[in-house]
Amino acid sequence: MDVAGRPLSLPDVSDADLAGLAYGVFTLSGEQRRRVGARLGPLVLDLAVLADTDLLPDPLAAPTLDAFMACGPLIWDETRRRIEHLVTSPNAHRRLDGAFHPVDGVTMHLPFTVADYVDFYSSLHHAVNVGRILRPDADPLPANWRHLPIGYHGRSGTVVVSGAEIPWPSGQRLEPDGTVTFGPSRRLDFELEVGFVIGIPSRLGEPVPIERVMEHVFGVVLVNDWSARDIQAWEYQPLGPFLGKSFATTISAWVLPLDAVEPVRVSGPSQEPEPLPHLRRREPWGLDLDLKVKLRTARMRSDGSEPATICETGFADQYWTVAQQLAHLTSNGASLRTGDLVASGTVSGPLPGQAGSLLEATRGGTEPLELPDGEERAFLEPGDEVILEGRAGAVALGAATGIVA
Ligand code: CA
Repeated sequence: MDVAGRPLSLPDVSDADLAGLAYGVFTLSGEQRRRVGARLGPLVLDLAVLADTDLLPDPLAAPTLDAFMACGPLIWDETRRRIEHLVTSPNAHRRLDGAFHPVDGVTMHLPFTVADYVDFYSSLHHAVNVGRILRPDADPLPANWRHLPIGYHGRSGTVVVSGAEIPWPSGQRLEPDGTVTFGPSRRLDFELEVGFVIGIPSRLGEPVPIERVMEHVFGVVLVNDWSARDIQAWEYQPLGPFLGKSFATTISAWVLPLDAVEPVRVSGPSQEPEPLPHLRRREPWGLDLDLKVKLRTARMRSDGSEPATICETGFADQYWTVAQQLAHLTSNGASLRTGDLVASGTVSGPLPGQAGSLLEATRGGTEPLELPDGEERAFLEPGDEVILEGRAGAVALGAATGIVA
């Protein structure tokens, strides 16, 4: 026993670990059962076995977070309090024997069934950067941009968990000589985004008012909206992205509950013109997140080199907040479903080194990035690994990584 009377075999869980408690789905080596787990620093607490013995609600015994996400804030809060009690109360510790596993020793899976996937375009700096590259002679912002959060519906069936290999996409593209060809993308890119996961559904035909819409949100993930720029540029007019985006999207294995980002809520930048009443901000739902993109090439991996940081930016000045995006999404009566994934759009800042995509960082591929080992990248190449990381103050968001094959 240590001085606090705890058995030494049980791990110490710090306040910081508890503040960053996130939910995911894992399997143990040699086992088939998918288990819901809570991440506590370097450890996973097996919530499935605790649900099996009635220490936690039944939905946590399921192979995904779906049922738990549909329970709503009362059960989410109560579950969190019970987990905190179990891991901090010496009397409860004997019930946790065998329930902790090192996070490095388990296999992570997609944490929830992705229902609908929506991607917005809400970073002013990103929209301006891209507008200048794609439409150099026109106003970089479309006429509607400051009136509504532009978005499109993506492909939920190709959302994959962090760590999954990304198959190299092929598609149709317009060649410089005016011919049209089909083949592997030559302008493969990443997009740094923040995703929000819907817990409680809403009813068809009933728009969710902006002051209530965040009650539907379960948590936050990082999102890499992989993009084939050559395919996208040829196909996207007039209906928006299609095959240039739908081949794969990576999300974090760990979903950080919305409560965990409460300390970093900010109002967001002022909006001019003022949005229409149904999109007007009622509460501060900007989030002061620190975001980072790292790149590790196949050569860097074989040399044992650390990944290179190629972007450091923030989320606080995102023009449209998630509450505005969700109010807009349901304003026509469309409903929310448990498992909906709502992504922010690429997050970029105004300065060099703050670009959330290679398209912006390399000005459309014309100014390649120089990596520390001397390699250059205009766009991604086979074997490149992209690692998205984020923090909400002292709390880490789950990383979203993927290697393009
Ligand atoms: Ca995107």
